[in-house]
Amino acid sequence: MAQEVRGVIAPGKNEPVRVETLVIPAPGPGEAVVQVQACGVCHTDLHYKQGGISDDYPFLLGHEAAGVVEEVGEGVTDVAPGDFVILNWRAVCGQCRACKRGRPWYCFDTHNAQQKMTLASTGQELEPALGIGAFAEKTLVAAGQCTKVDPSVSPAVAGLLGCGVMAGIGAAINTGQVGRGDTVAVIGCGGVGDAAIAGARLAGAARIIAVDIDDRKLTTAEKMGATHSVNSATVDPVEAIRELTGGFGADVVIEAVGRPETYKQAFYARDLAGTVVLVGVPTPEMKLELPLLDVFGRGGSLKSSWYGDCLPSRDFPMLVDLHQQGRLDLGAFVTETIALDEVEKAFERMHGGDVLRSVVVF
Ligand SMILES: [Zn+2]
Ligand SMILES: [Zn+2]
Repeated sequence: MAQEVRGVIAPGKNEPVRVETLVIPAPGPGEAVVQVQACGVCHTDLHYKQGGISDDYPFLLGHEAAGVVEEVGEGVTDVAPGDFVILNWRAVCGQCRACKRGRPWYCFDTHNAQQKMTLASTGQELEPALGIGAFAEKTLVAAGQCTKVDPSVSPAVAGLLGCGVMAGIGAAINTGQVGRGDTVAVIGCGGVGDAAIAGARLAGAARIIAVDIDDRKLTTAEKMGATHSVNSATVDPVEAIRELTGGFGADVVIEAVGRPETYKQAFYARDLAGTVVLVGVPTPEMKLELPLLDVFGRGGSLKSSWYGDCLPSRDFPMLVDLHQQGRLDLGAFVTETIALDEVEKAFERMHGGDVLRSVVVF
């Protein structure tokens, strides 16, 4: 049966977000309704509000969420009512050319729910952020977007694995293939950069150099596992990283800003045959200029990391287990918990630089 719940929508470009009553349809074939327990506030939600993603308003925001499956539609066998799950925006199809080649973390045809949630007042269809829409008491997703994990973990912590924290950890362990003893530099120490630092520590990196222009962020980065920090507002980060790596550069440099200037820093701060991982998200007008001879002559690999090249069914349960064992402090990413009607305020605080994640808790 369809039901009415409260959720946060972005009504139009740059308009303040607000809580509205939504209609959640009963799950159809392959779908699930999830009772959301917690959902983190991500930059991508802000980009939706600002019109940086598309103009398909109104959006139902929120996509870093954990909750309990309430009801499933026909043909759903992987999850059942009562399961505690993290929502993912990469429900792999199993049919596309990436999946068929055994590389489902690159799936080119990921699934979302077929039915639309609507605004109760007008009947308008809602576009859920990243196909999730979890700043709502309940949401409708494709069943494949639900990944079961150990239910003893705090939902506020677990939900963060659904996006930014997974992107950062995955940039280090999946895309960058950081290994024991490696030197790693991370440029940009917001939530994703800090998660890359935590991922590099988890993978056994010997030296982890945090680079940012804000000393407060560098202090947080050290708590996440950085062994050295460089304020690139006051020193040349390429020189500083070389100095800290015997004059050579880092084995893996993770660019978590997404700008041409910082990408160039990453490119030149890596050792010969090293790896650059771009996990920061650029904007359409940005262009990169590099001497092609340097690209060739320095060897190694230049990679992009999309959602940390994660496979939710493989990575979410593993990272939750490591957290529960005390080997990965995901709790450190939760700066504050807030109520559903405080999302607009959380967007404002995001710019202050003091907040890694505000998490809506239901
Ligand atoms: Zn696929
Ligand atoms: Zn996100």
